[in-house]
Amino acid sequence: MKKFKSLLIILTMIFTVLSPAAVMANNQEPVIKDVTICEKLGHDLIVITIRPTCEDVGRIATTCLRCDYEDMIIIAALGHDLINEVIIEPTCERYGSITANCSCCDYEEETIFLKLEHYFKSKITVPPTFETEGVKTHTCIHCNESYTTVIPKLDPAIK
Ligand SMILES: [Zn+2]
Ligand SMILES: [Zn+2]
Ligand SMILES: [Zn+2]
Repeated sequence: MKKFKSLLIILTMIFTVLSPAAVMANNQEPVIKDVTICEKLGHDLIVITIRPTCEDVGRIATTCLRCDYEDMIIIAALGHDLINEVIIEPTCERYGSITANCSCCDYEEETIFLKLEHYFKSKITVPPTFETEGVKTHTCIHCNESYTTVIPKLDPAIK
């Protein structure tokens, strides 16, 4: 029975160490470093600077070696410095794109442009006569692709 009791005490101690709630329940003050020292001596500060990158914020962390004083300044992320590297003009056959690379990191961004639609303008290239058929040429204003259609011979009945 005595052995069981000592085991219980050990368990209680472990619980006390692990749980902050248990510390409060036992009326033990949480450990606080002595702040009053710095009122006389001033803070003994160390500053840790983490530079911001394109995507991540930077930090300037200040901590006092003597007391609990600490300060954190957040520096905004720089954002990417994009430079257009590869520009492909869209045509009627394929998509266009701009590939941009960041000058600071290996971030790459691609912007796609929709394919153009053929847009044909028609022109009579060979006028028809009473004896011969004519030719109409349809040319895409974007890519110069063209096809021809036949214009029937002129009808003598229509004058
Ligand atoms: Zn201090
Ligand atoms: Zn970048
Ligand atoms: Zn076209």
